[in-house]
Amino acid sequence: MNYLIKGVSLLGGEPTDLLLRDGVVSQVAAEISTTSAGSDVEVIDASGLIALPGLVDLHTHLREPGREDAETVETGTQAAALGGFTAVHAMANTDPVADTAGVVEQVWRLGREAGYCDVRPVGAVTVGLGGERLAELGAMADSAAAVRVFSDDGKCVSDAVLMRRALEYVKAFDGVVAQHAQEPRLTEDAQMNEGELSGRLGLAGWPAVAEEAIIARDCLLAAHVGSRLHVCHVSTAGSVEIVRWAKSKGWNVTAEACPHHLLLTDDLAATYDPIYKVNPPLRTSADGEALRAGLADGTIDCVATDHAPHPHEDKDCEWAAAAFGMLGLETALSIVQQTMVDSGLLDWAGVADRLSYAPARIGRVADQGRPIAEGEPANVVLYDPTVRRVVDPAESASLSRNTPYRGMELPGRVVATFLRGRATVLDGKLQ
Ligand SMILES: [Zn+2]
Repeated sequence: MNYLIKGVSLLGGEPTDLLLRDGVVSQVAAEISTTSAGSDVEVIDASGLIALPGLVDLHTHLREPGREDAETVETGTQAAALGGFTAVHAMANTDPVADTAGVVEQVWRLGREAGYCDVRPVGAVTVGLGGERLAELGAMADSAAAVRVFSDDGKCVSDAVLMRRALEYVKAFDGVVAQHAQEPRLTEDAQMNEGELSGRLGLAGWPAVAEEAIIARDCLLAAHVGSRLHVCHVSTAGSVEIVRWAKSKGWNVTAEACPHHLLLTDDLAATYDPIYKVNPPLRTSADGEALRAGLADGTIDCVATDHAPHPHEDKDCEWAAAAFGMLGLETALSIVQQTMVDSGLLDWAGVADRLSYAPARIGRVADQGRPIAEGEPANVVLYDPTVRRVVDPAESASLSRNTPYRGMELPGRVVATFLRGRATVLDGKLQ
């Protein structure tokens, strides 16, 4: 099917017509008549909608293989399409761990079969996420999945020698090491942000320094070996400062922030509701303000969801026993609108950069994160920023329900998502 999209605001600009034909953006003009577009096009009235390039997530947990009760590649990518994503990076902490060419190819193939968005598997840095031996990074890079992002996410590569070797190794194929920055000894049994509140609630604290110390070390290591470092889910004001310092040196360091850290704060832990339990933990309002400022000025390169589905038995229990993590794919764009656009910190062109161009560039994803221009792949999202909706977990395409935004009214709605010209979502519904 080919589509003529009428009167859409391109990145928030003047009304424009877009013709999507044979998988590419074949024409962009102020006015494209239906007769010139041809009889085989479906016309979409997009007045009042914004067109953005298909979103790219650097940090998604799809849980397959191994935890198909929490999510599958199919359901996770359905949630992604509904959230406006056309590519996601699937984290390696599955069972078995994605630490061989065989497992990353399996995940990549499942993504192609499902067809909702491009799935780029992330390869584990160490065998079994064990933190002791480097995994076969080169074999994963050379596989059909063409892995470029490597991470032990969920765990930190805390051994400095291993981290150095990984950074050196990935240079051979232009890869990047994405670090989950968590000094393990400083965070033993940690449950929430360390502060006055953690003391009062009697929950073990997760100090900011446990994140910042690893980020500082890794920036120095990346500079020392001349390699690329990506910092996952930056959550503290101090971390933003360290990344800003590393960039000022000209070092090849990039960073992401998650929607929940942009919007939510640690005082929610006072509810003792594990829906708010996440790693790294929700931080203070001052940390959130620093993250938003860092995202606005480009210190933080991109937004990544850290979509982390968990079945209810892993979340509906007491705080200390509950799993870390929350859903994120279907609400990310709305949270970014609320925290960054409606607050005046970022325009829609900035959103296109932070949620599409930058993550595609960091992950070296070809044919994604491209501008909406003639001849480019037709990866396009149509978004209505004027509506408001109340988040209902039951409506999620995810197999899990652990969204911290349930019952919350959020702005905006993804109306349509096109993956290489094919509609994965139309009228807000999966196709
Ligand atoms: Zn992580």
